[in-house]
Order: sequence, then C-alpha cells, then structure tokens
Amino acid sequence: MSTAAAADSALSDVITVRSPRDGSVLAEVTKTPVAEVAAIAGRAREAQLAWALLPVRERVQRMRNIRNRWAERGLELAQLLMREGGKSEAEALTSEVLPSLNLFDYWCKATPGFLARERVALDPLNFPRKRGFIDYEPLGLIALVTPWNYPSSIPLRALVPALLAGNAVLWKPSEFAPLTGHLVHEIFAPDLPPGLLGLVQGDFAQGEAVIDAAIDGVSFTGSAATGRKIAKRTAERLIPVSLELGGKNAAIVLDDADLDRASAGVVWGALANGGQNCAAVSRVYVVQSVAAEFERRVRARLALVKSGPQAGEFFDVPPLINARQRERVAAHVDEATAAGIEALAPGGLLGEQGYWYAPAAFKAPTDALAIVREETFGPAFTVTAVADEAEAVRRANDSEYGLSASVWTRDLARGERVAKSLDVGTITVNNTSFTPVITNAPWSGRRSSGHGTTNSHRALAEMVKPRFILLDWNKGAEFWWFPHDESLVMLARGLLKFLSAGFANKLAGLPAVLKLLPARLKALGRPVV
Ligand code: NAD
Repeated sequence: MSTAAAADSALSDVITVRSPRDGSVLAEVTKTPVAEVAAIAGRAREAQLAWALLPVRERVQRMRNIRNRWAERGLELAQLLMREGGKSEAEALTSEVLPSLNLFDYWCKATPGFLARERVALDPLNFPRKRGFIDYEPLGLIALVTPWNYPSSIPLRALVPALLAGNAVLWKPSEFAPLTGHLVHEIFAPDLPPGLLGLVQGDFAQGEAVIDAAIDGVSFTGSAATGRKIAKRTAERLIPVSLELGGKNAAIVLDDADLDRASAGVVWGALANGGQNCAAVSRVYVVQSVAAEFERRVRARLALVKSGPQAGEFFDVPPLINARQRERVAAHVDEATAAGIEALAPGGLLGEQGYWYAPAAFKAPTDALAIVREETFGPAFTVTAVADEAEAVRRANDSEYGLSASVWTRDLARGERVAKSLDVGTITVNNTSFTPVITNAPWSGRRSSGHGTTNSHRALAEMVKPRFILLDWNKGAEFWWFPHDESLVMLARGLLKFLSAGFANKLAGLPAVLKLLPARLKALGRPVV
C-alpha cells in the first residue's frame, strides 16, 4: 500500500485484507467504530470484577481448555497465518502455533505460584512481633495493542498471563492481521466471561481510542515511533506502560567461530519470516581474518534460499506483508546499491504479484547507511569486516536500538565475556533470534527498543499490583513515635555509633542503646490515659 493509499484506508470503515502472496482481496473486516470503544472497555471492566474473584486454579482450568482448543484448531490457525500473513506452513507452525502451546503450559503451571501470598521476612530485633505479607492483585483492564508480524503468538505473550492474573484485556490486533485477531478471540472466548476480552478491530484511530479508554495499563508491541506516541498519550495518567519495540540486531562472528553454523544461523536469523522480526539479524560484524571465508559461505547459503511466487508450497522467505513494507525495504537496498556497496545478494522485486522481495546482503564498509542504522524489517542485512573483537563490540553497540544480539565463537567463555559487553536485552552465543519462544526467559529491550518485559515472572509482575500488609502484635508505642525528645536523639546517636564499622564504635554506642532503649520502650508502653 502506498502512503496515499494508507491514508485513504484510515478514512474507510472497513479493513481490506489482501494476500501478501498475490495481492488479492481476502476479506473486508469492519472496523470497530471509535465511539464504541469506551463501551467495550466498560463491559470488560465489569466482567473483570467477578473474574478476579475466581480462585486462580479455576482461571488456570479455563486457560487449559483454551490451550486445548488452540491445539485442536492449530492447523486452521496455521492456514490463516499463511493466507493473511503470507507465511510458509513451516514458519506458521514452528514460530507461532507450536511454541504457543509451551507458553500456555508454562503460565498455567507457574502463575499460581507467582500470585501466591508472599511472606516478607522481618528481622525480629528491628521489627519485633510483626508479620508482613505481599498479595498480588490484577491491574484491572489492560490495553493490548499488537503488530502483524507474529499476529497470534505475540498477543498470546500478554493475553495469557494477563487473564490468568485476573485482568480484563482490551485488545486491538494489527490492521494487517484482523482475521487472525478474530480467530484468536474465538479460541479464547468460550472459556471467558462475556466481554472480559474486548476485541477492537481497526488501525491507529482505534489504537488511540483503546489507549484513551479507561484502562489501568498498556502492553504494546510495535514500532518505536508508535511506542513513543503511546508513552506520551498515557503520561498524564501515570499508568504502567510496557513497550516492546523495534531492533537492529547485530551478530558478531569471531575468528574462532564455527563458520558453517554461524553462516547458517545468520542467514536464517536475517531472513526468517522475511526479516519481519524484531529480533532479525540485520548487522553482521565479522572479524577480518575469517571474513572472506564467512562471506563465501553466506553467499552459498543465500543462493539456496527459496522465495518468490514460483517457489511453490515450500519456501524459506515469505513475501512482505504489504506494499508499504516492500517500499521501505527497497529504499534501504536502493540506497546501498546507489552508494556502490558490494552485494553478496542484490535483492529486488520478485514477480509481478504480491509483495515478494528477494533477499539482499551488502558488504557495508560504513555505518552511515539506512540499512545499517534504521530498522529495515525485511530480508536485507549487512556483513561488515572489522579488525577485531573490540571493534565488533563497539560497532554492535553503536545503535539507537538495544533489543538483541548474537556472538559466534567456539570458546563459550569468550562468548559470554563478549555478551556482557553488549548493551542489549538478550544475547545468544552460537544461536540467534529464537529466544522469545522461551517463555520462562525475559524478553526486553533497551533504548529505542523500549522498556518492560514479556515472558517470565517479570512479565507477570507488570500486570499485577503488589499490596503489602503488615500485622503487629505489639502494645504501647514504638520507640520512634512521639515524643521526639532528647532521649530519642541520644538513643539514635548511640544506635548510629553501634551500627558504624569497628569494634570501638560498637563499644562506644552500646551503653546508650542498652540504657535508653529499654527505658524509652517502658515509658512508651504506659498508656497516656
Ligand atoms: P506499528 O507501530 O505500526 O503498529 C503496531 C500496532 O499499533 C498496530 O496494531 C497499529 O494499528 C497500532 N497503532 C499504530 N499507531 C497507533 C497509535 N498512534 N496509537 C495506538 N496504536 C497505534 O508496528 P507494526 O508495523 O505493526 O509492527 C512492526 C514493528 O513492531 C517493528 O518495529 C518491530 O520491530 C516491532 N516488534 C517488536 C517486537 C518486540 O518484541 N520487541 C515484536 C514484534 C514486532
């Protein structure tokens, strides 16, 4: 879609869903009228009150039913991901349908423990005769706004823990994946109270309405530009906002790397899902001494990659989601080509129909190009030879994004050391781009890649409010309560001495503590009237 066409479609009250494979119209989906969003949010809030009161094991049982329905309808979901998103069946099954079953299993097993009342250990000398607990309450209504690149598995990362924790969710899927949004909602709805999961279909206008509704938190996955808009839009309300944004992920290939594995991993990591992956490898920094051999292998692997309308049923690189996305990729590739940069694969439009684009890889000598600096979000990456490990680390860190990176080396201790010098949320040594499917590991970005975490107990912590309750069995007053008289000051000074380092200090402070503390407690223990 051109920019003008995108502007036109924002004015329409339907979403025209086109096949990325051939551009044909698959369906028209009615956008939710913006004026109705507040009422959908209201119904979700109302349903949430009873949902939160259910025992967590009851919510887990409902989620297990949803999980089983997900498995039953897994092939249907994969077919839809293929039609609407242009994915291959292998991609749909291995990156969305199957890993999501593990996600359900993890949260169903772990959530009751995460939500259980937590005892706070209180030191009996400092805090005698007291007991403290933390209870976790749901935030309430969480707005969920999601992208199109993994249109079922990304929403799931928030939906499952949010609902298990007792929240309602107001969900707006991407305007480029409304049919998947509808099917996922259909899989969830039978086991949820009516209205608890509100579905809003549409584009940025409906996205803004969802953010403006009476919500208690936001879980957003999408571009950095939209993330910034949402952060501004919610700032006055001071509600928690989790932002999973873009990436410009580097791969560092060291001189002792297994070049066969590294080249296979990099080519898959860069081109899986057509590079439409926040974790896609987009900048490779390879140490000079192995650069020629690595490039030879990358070239050979690129030559084997299958893509395009003639590739048949089984292909590696799918088409891009829409014409706008393809224009963006082409602009990055054309700039590099015009700059005379040597290509390992030249890229370019593939076929007349749909949004296919051939993989592109450049031997980028400079980091000034858009293909090195901006998120391309397509099947294009750069391979840059660097003098040594230190230069590789410096250039990998020189990015506004900080989502993930990979290091390739036969020496795992060295890999770990390099990993610790990379300023990103996830680093894989001798692997790449797949860890969002590890549900018990946190996935989070830095800088323009956003803040907040999906996956792991840390994600759940963002969807609940802790409430600390302290119970006290003491009678009388505490020694730090009124009156704030000379005896308290002398006692506090004595305590400061006693708690300072060194035996002499302890000795100097002890008399005041031993004399004044019992006397003060005794005095305070007497009722005033
Ligand atoms: P996008 O920001 O254009 O859209 C994401 C969602 O936000 C869509 O549902 C869209 O309709 C909605 N939206 C757009 N403008 C809005 C506004 N002003 N207010 C509220 N909602 C609005 O992103 P996209 O093109 O759908 O997705 C690709 C981006 O997502 C890439 O940058 C990619 O890196 C990022 N992404 C990040 C992760 C991660 O885990 N960090 C995962 C997948 C994708």
